[in-house]
Amino acid sequence: MSTAAFKNYIDGQFVESTETFDSIDPSTGVPWAQMPAATVADVDRAVEAAHRALRSGPWASMTATARGKLLVRLGDLVVANAGRLAELETRDTGKIIRETRAQIAYVGDYYRYYGGLADKHEGAFVPIDKADMEVTIRPEPIGVVAAIVPWNSQLFLSAVKLGPALAAGCTAVLKASEDGPAPLLAFAELVHEAGFPAGTISILTGFGHDCGHRLTSHPLVARVAFTGGPSTARQIVINTAENLAYTTLELGGKSPVVVFADADLDSAANAVVAGIFAATGQSCVAGSRLLVERSVKDEFLARLKRKAEAIAIGDPQDPATEMGPLATLRQHERIESIVAESLAGGGRLVTGGARPQGKTNGFYYAPTIIEAPDQTLACVREELFGPVLSVLAFDSEAEALSLANDTPFGLASGVFTTNLAKAHRMARGIHAGVVWINTYRAVSPLVPFGGYGQSGLGREGGLDAIRDYTRSKSVWIRT
Ligand code: NAD
Repeated sequence: MSTAAFKNYIDGQFVESTETFDSIDPSTGVPWAQMPAATVADVDRAVEAAHRALRSGPWASMTATARGKLLVRLGDLVVANAGRLAELETRDTGKIIRETRAQIAYVGDYYRYYGGLADKHEGAFVPIDKADMEVTIRPEPIGVVAAIVPWNSQLFLSAVKLGPALAAGCTAVLKASEDGPAPLLAFAELVHEAGFPAGTISILTGFGHDCGHRLTSHPLVARVAFTGGPSTARQIVINTAENLAYTTLELGGKSPVVVFADADLDSAANAVVAGIFAATGQSCVAGSRLLVERSVKDEFLARLKRKAEAIAIGDPQDPATEMGPLATLRQHERIESIVAESLAGGGRLVTGGARPQGKTNGFYYAPTIIEAPDQTLACVREELFGPVLSVLAFDSEAEALSLANDTPFGLASGVFTTNLAKAHRMARGIHAGVVWINTYRAVSPLVPFGGYGQSGLGREGGLDAIRDYTRSKSVWIRT
């Protein structure tokens, strides 16, 4: 895998771009590489190639088993190149090397899982009530897929789209975020090496307002799979309206973590700290709202403060580092401003709230805990996408549930208790696509993932995801 010059990968070729932009190393704030900005013409070429590959050519006539083998090979190549991919992701996004290595190891599992499913996704014979008729149902690929990902976890968020899309027989154009696109442009080399026919997968990067807009409003795109922020999602729904492209949306969250007094408090504290401060809080499932039973609040907060202040903040490429910088200056500025607003509005700073000591360069921000008097503070309501935990106390299970659900989001949640019946009641009552009980942030290719409310539409992962990239054709035969 070479990384000397990053190029877009369109119709089976690595292409020079007429326009480029600087990619910034978040640990220094200094540009480290030039990235190709795809133009509208580049997008058109990629979509047209995907359409040709879908209609004619080797991909269109390939058996599901052969498609599946290509996906498994791609998964193997990701694992074989995990070290290099992780290094690039860390360099371009500031996500620490421990986390990028760990995540890329299971990105390979997603391609292998969907590769294995490609020839197990069956149609049906329908026993209708007519003696001289037979009906079969054929699951057919829905068409050209536009996959759009945000900058965080780009390899993972692409795998949950490309895996089921290609297993279903679709072709795809993947747009890497303009922030931190290096790992996906390097991944394109593995797609090429795996031997996918030209046009089956194109990978490009560029800006949302031109390249992203064109991709999601292109008349030949039948399916849009988007992960990102809610305001971009609304724009994308408008983009897709003209062509009525089927769209799934994986959006943000303000995930509650509920800690009852009867929980194993030390293991809960470890999970809460990892739940919010992993990836410097830049994770859609970040457990950013802690709801803790009042009788243990002070003791629990003291544990959290100790653990948060012990986190080793530093160079993201150093394997000893436990928390790196934020990915962009814009994120850093936004977090500074929401924290200031929340403290002015009555929040009590438990720890953090500023740059970590000695970190004058780069986009570093200290692990921050704010105790909030109620749910109205900006740090409680808004997704910050940063290392800021808001804390509220509750007195009863009913109050915990009501606070947990007092948000327009509904992506993930956590419940810590040793009372099994209470855990089940909370799991039933919480409005979120994921409830983790006595654990946090577990994922698997076998398990569906997605949000309620403003956290999105549709599910990724699991068997259902592949159905979402097919449409059924009913074939009626007079016998
Ligand atoms: P973003 O919405 O700003 O950008 C996401 C992608 O959309 C980028 O590739 C961008 O170029 C593209 N885009 C922007 N405008 C566009 C337009 N008009 N048309 C088409 N594409 C356009 O998101 P971000 O700041 O990069 O990422 C953070 C957000 O992503 C957070 O809200 C986070 O919660 C969410 N997220 C969700 C999940 C999930 O699975 N639910 C996972 C990770 C991140």
